[in-house]
Amino acid sequence: MTTRRYHLPPRTGVAFRVRCGDLVRIIDPLGEQVSDLISFAGGDPAEWLSSGRSIDYANTIYFTVGHTLYSNRSRPMWAVVEDTVGRHDFLLTPCSPDTFRILYGIDTPRPSCLTNLAQHLAPFGILPDMIPTTLNVFMNVAISSTGELTIGTPRSRAGDYLLLRAEMDLIVGVTACSAELSNNGTFKPIDVEVVDAAIAPA
Ligand SMILES: [Zn+2]
Repeated sequence: MTTRRYHLPPRTGVAFRVRCGDLVRIIDPLGEQVSDLISFAGGDPAEWLSSGRSIDYANTIYFTVGHTLYSNRSRPMWAVVEDTVGRHDFLLTPCSPDTFRILYGIDTPRPSCLTNLAQHLAPFGILPDMIPTTLNVFMNVAISSTGELTIGTPRSRAGDYLLLRAEMDLIVGVTACSAELSNNGTFKPIDVEVVDAAIAPA
């Protein structure tokens, strides 16, 4: 087995399978871009990456090295292995046509993370309504003492990355985000690297 690489042009997505132990590196090649990531158990898409469970068990909303990301069935899906940024969001849903209609006042058709994920996950039997809150890699969301959320410019610079290790066989969806608010107003690409467990460092 070899290393697989996916280059995601701005406002696109991809889906693929990984095996338990594989390493998945989400790379921001230009800086200040967001990438939404979601996963489902390889043998049963009714088991999905759960923001709620993960926050419960980590007791934080900010995930970084040493944290485990859990499924809705409380089984580990991912371990965070390396993180050159240290700020990602796990509260907000993938941007969607409704996001743009409600928050941006835009009704015309345009790409979104939800539609990109739905398109690429469909061949795996995953329907749009099955896509939950995503791990929004590099998304910079702050919470005030009154609970108000502020979406800031991502802290990622060119070449920064988040490295995850699959803790079970997974179906994975990844995007280069389509929301201006998330990426400082400029749509940019995302690179993904999947290293097979057979050659991944222990
Ligand atoms: Zn998005």
